[in-house]
Amino acid sequence: MAKFDLMTLPYVPEALEPAISRETIGFHHGKHHQTYVNNLNAAIEGTPFETKTLEEIVVTAEGGMLNNAGQILNHNLYFGQFMAPKENNKPEGALADAINKTFGSFEAFKEEFVKKGGSLFGSGWVWLSADKEGNLVITQEPNAANPLQKGLNPLLTFDVWEHAYYLDYQNRRPDHLKALWSIVNWDVVATRYGK
Ligand code: MN
Repeated sequence: MAKFDLMTLPYVPEALEPAISRETIGFHHGKHHQTYVNNLNAAIEGTPFETKTLEEIVVTAEGGMLNNAGQILNHNLYFGQFMAPKENNKPEGALADAINKTFGSFEAFKEEFVKKGGSLFGSGWVWLSADKEGNLVITQEPNAANPLQKGLNPLLTFDVWEHAYYLDYQNRRPDHLKALWSIVNWDVVATRYGK
């Protein structure tokens, strides 16, 4: 029996339009995400990783097992926690204070995040994380990497793989990343920051 299942989206497929179209959700969640789940279930069968969590696999496995587990974890966070059908929301409280202190302003933070996402060469993810002292940091992580591997607490990520935006934005990755600000679930980001 398969260990991992494809996560169920907590919204209807068109809920994130126009930042992410129903068609992109169909391929990205329905095909790409599903394939990572299928690949990992096949890879861990009969190995000690069968009893591990995704997070445990991501910080201990190598090769294809690591890549598929990383992609499942990253997409679970992206689709399931960080993106939501909200509008005009923004960080508040301690998280907003930390963003202002670190980047100067919320606008300056967004600009830096999109710049780092836009300039990541090839496939990967741009992340906002907190270190052990609570300092905020933006990192570019290639392919399936997750800041957990660096001992950071991941707070927010944008997927910069072409499959995340090509149907809607073709080569205009920065335009897609800018559109994602309208659907970020800042309540979740703040809760993770408070942990
Ligand atoms: Mn993706």
